[in-house]
Amino acid sequence: MSKPLFGAFSTPEDGVHRLGPMQTIEVPQRRFKEDEVVDYVVVGVGSAGGVLLQRLARTGFTVIGLEAGPFWDTERDWVSDEAGSYNLYWNDLRITGGEHPLALGSNNSGKGVGGGSVHWAAFTPRLHPSDFEVYTRDGVGADWPITYEEIEPYYELLEQEIPIAGPAWFPWGKPHGHPYAPHPMGGVGDTLIKGCTKLGIPVSAGGPVAILSASHGDRPHCIYRGFCIQGCKVGAKASTLVTHVPDALEHGAEIRGSSMVARVSMDKAGRTNGVIYFDLEGKEHFQRARAVIVSGYAIETPRLLLNSACPGHEQGLANSSGTLGKYLMAQAGNVVLGRFDELIRMYKAPPAHALTEEFYETDPKRDFARGFAVQTVAPLPIAFAKQCMTSKALWGWGLRRMMMDYNHWSTLGVLGEILPWEDNRVELAEEKDRFGLPVAKTFFGLHDNDHKLIEFGTKKVMEIMSAAGATEVVSESRYAHLVGAARMGADPAKSVCDKFGRTWDIPNLFIMDGSVMPTQGSANPGLTIQALAARTADYLISQGDSVFTTSKRDMTTPPVRKSLSPPGTFSKGAPHIG
Ligand SMILES: Cc1cc2nc3c(=O)[nH]c(=O)nc-3n(C[C@H](O)[C@H](O)[C@H](O)COP(=O)(O)OP(=O)(O)OC[C@H]3O[C@@H](n4cnc5c(N)ncnc54)[C@H](O)[C@@H]3O)c2cc1C
Ligand code: SF4
Repeated sequence: MSKPLFGAFSTPEDGVHRLGPMQTIEVPQRRFKEDEVVDYVVVGVGSAGGVLLQRLARTGFTVIGLEAGPFWDTERDWVSDEAGSYNLYWNDLRITGGEHPLALGSNNSGKGVGGGSVHWAAFTPRLHPSDFEVYTRDGVGADWPITYEEIEPYYELLEQEIPIAGPAWFPWGKPHGHPYAPHPMGGVGDTLIKGCTKLGIPVSAGGPVAILSASHGDRPHCIYRGFCIQGCKVGAKASTLVTHVPDALEHGAEIRGSSMVARVSMDKAGRTNGVIYFDLEGKEHFQRARAVIVSGYAIETPRLLLNSACPGHEQGLANSSGTLGKYLMAQAGNVVLGRFDELIRMYKAPPAHALTEEFYETDPKRDFARGFAVQTVAPLPIAFAKQCMTSKALWGWGLRRMMMDYNHWSTLGVLGEILPWEDNRVELAEEKDRFGLPVAKTFFGLHDNDHKLIEFGTKKVMEIMSAAGATEVVSESRYAHLVGAARMGADPAKSVCDKFGRTWDIPNLFIMDGSVMPTQGSANPGLTIQALAARTADYLISQGDSVFTTSKRDMTTPPVRKSLSPPGTFSKGAPHIG
């Protein structure tokens, strides 16, 4: 073929901002004047922030997204290389503590436009209806202030917008299908399917995952080379950087990269009037706004609000309940490694491509509440080396020998629901960052139910791996996906914000990201976070100017505005065969 299918790929050029081989955005972009008062400032342009900005801009609000990390030009800034992708993560200092301290750094959140959706593996299961009433059903955790039915239309909408590839029939939770056809199986998915089939466990092949199985607009389909967690230079994997940010810019949003928000500012009337942030050179700025939405992730959101303490809000903003920073959650992410005589080649295909949710719900026959999913993991060599070290205590030659055997190993993961506990929390540390701001300190520990669930889940995945034909099976413990720490609720005394993310204490201050989740289920959180963000945007649009002018709390559910979807959303995708 003399010409590539989608035309020749060009190298980075001055004056062109590239989001993939074919996707570009216009430069120069909109820049509001320094002293201009905008309608909304969104702090953090990640999974939630990207969706919020897109919808608010499309409706005609003036909006700025302030993002601590860079505004990626994917052709210039990204490499398909495991070590070279280190800077996609929030690597700034965070302190970890508690009985079972969380590993922070690259196992947590992103920094840069797109946030965590840039480096996510892109598994996109929905929560189950039971997740919204965990306390009512099981007497543990908490109930959400919304039901599954309230978020369902947003799941359906975001699955089209992103779009999601997966089976035409997904049987767990509330059964549903996916707009794009499932992906072919890689070696790791094959082991999950083989093991589950042998044991009679239903399994989903080829998704649900936010990776294109057919081209979509100016994004090509997946080419199965496995650099998804490194950003995906191809543009086949969805991130808000490629799905929602371009449309936000098209409709007049400004995105200011390398802008670290230090404090949310308050006026004398008890309302926020903007934010104080530092640019790359450390120069302080004040961005005035009629309302502020904090979308900084489950660690940085509580950190920012705690750092914004001021007279009248001595314990931090939006913290009259004392729950800000508390009920931080991570999912159990224990990894099971299995050695096969045949070649597996974990690097081929996206890490996320097969799963089972057969153990998701509470089962009275077990001695713990709630459950877990089993998913493909498929690390690249550096992550695999870490797993070899922790699962088999290898070092030196022993480690090298196992590394040389990489192509024969498969990895499957437990994704287990750890319950929200008050003592798992984010606080401010003594240590400060380069702007002089106290950094976050997390405290994390497992409780009895969590221990039992993890033990059962890990054994079950080891059984699956053995049933698939592994000759050696080992495991390592790990956690994944932090959420909570600024939870939404129906009771102002027990939560930080209401069901739309509006803080109970400050009428024009909102929180919208993974930190608002009261429980986390055993589904990866990204799709839920984007669905919640779209719902909050619909609420803000319905409320209009009243958000800026009154303290009245209107809890009316807004209409679902499908007309705000980015262009091309309702295209047909790849047909499902059979
Ligand atoms: C390796 C890995 C794989 C994952 N795989 C999956 C998966 O397969 N499926 C899934 O659903 N989820 C996955 N996740 C989790 C998912 O990425 C996160 O749950 C999700 O992105 C969180 O969304 P958010 O909006 O809460 O925060 P983020 O997406 O992290 O966005 C927050 C943004 O705010 C910015 N920010 C923070 N503080 C400030 C400040 N003070 N000023 C300015 N900007 C600020 C940050 O730089 C960041 O860009 C994965 C995570 C990791 C680490
Ligand atoms: S496997 Fe597919 S989604 Fe992953 S990096 Fe390659 S092209 Fe992107």
